[in-house]
Amino acid sequence: MGKIIAVVNQKGGVGKTTTAVNLAAALAIAERPVLLIDADPQANSTRSLGFASDPQRASLYDALTETIALEDIKLASPDLPHLSLIPADSNLVGCEVELIEAEDREYRLKNLLDANRDQYREILIDCPPSLNLLTLNALTAADGVLIPVQCEYLALEGISQLMETITLVREGLNPNLAIEGVVMTMYDERTNLSKQVVDEVREVLGSQVYQTVIPRNIRLGEAPSHGKPIFLYDIRSKGSKAYFDLAKEFVNHEENGIGQRIAKPHPEGAAETDAGAVEGKRQRSGTTGRRSHRPEPGATS
Ligand code: ATP
Ligand code: MG
Repeated sequence: MGKIIAVVNQKGGVGKTTTAVNLAAALAIAERPVLLIDADPQANSTRSLGFASDPQRASLYDALTETIALEDIKLASPDLPHLSLIPADSNLVGCEVELIEAEDREYRLKNLLDANRDQYREILIDCPPSLNLLTLNALTAADGVLIPVQCEYLALEGISQLMETITLVREGLNPNLAIEGVVMTMYDERTNLSKQVVDEVREVLGSQVYQTVIPRNIRLGEAPSHGKPIFLYDIRSKGSKAYFDLAKEFVNHEENGIGQRIAKPHPEGAAETDAGAVEGKRQRSGTTGRRSHRPEPGATS
């Protein structure tokens, strides 16, 4: 059965799409059948795989709001034979309102995926920058969450809110939801701030943080406008190496059950501890999330 991973962070521009697209591509290059689901009305994953916007094309919106199977809207990656995409379009914005009366509104994606998750080894869901109904659908369907965190000042701002949401989802919608891992993105080796942020996030979130850190790399920023994952745009780039490394680590975790271990079995109250610990340490920490907005000495170089 395919493992379903939601790539989530309600903060915008932290590298969710870049991570979802390039991790999916790396796994597909390793000949693992992968489905990437674009659950963001911005449709950035869809465009990043080379599909221009097309009002005629069915999207995740049609599957969530009507009785269209995912199979019928699935697109094959033009470049990678083991990668398929469920495209997004701007209609997805309307889901929240259109499904308001539907009793199963948080379960729509889960129900759609139950029909065909066994065709894939991994199913990655690129979530929008919000904790809205689309994100709740992803969290309800998922086995685990992968959280990209940008290496910048106040990196952990919002993570405690995300952990609280995960707690609520575990209580009400999906008791088995695990933290798959946290990936630090856009690391700038020229600044002390990046290093300091990674150190502090590791201190707060411990072994949940992947060893692989994704560097800030101009080629990663350029690849989407060419409709290519980084490996097909510039295989020699640092970004390419980093996302291959992340894929290796992801597969290792999967084989050793690391992501699963964090939340299953889920002891009473452990999720509160997750959120509480993040909030407590975040408030105390220097660059990652203290509310005083006063940078630590040397944090701004
Ligand atoms: P949103 O919340 O809007 O969906 P996101 O979290 O999906 O954003 P991305 O779209 O992946 O974030 O990244 C934001 C911008 O930063 C994009 O222009 C992307 O190309 C660029 N970017 C992402 N990661 C890197 C990186 N490691 N190095 C350089 N540029 C990057
Ligand atoms: Mg995105």
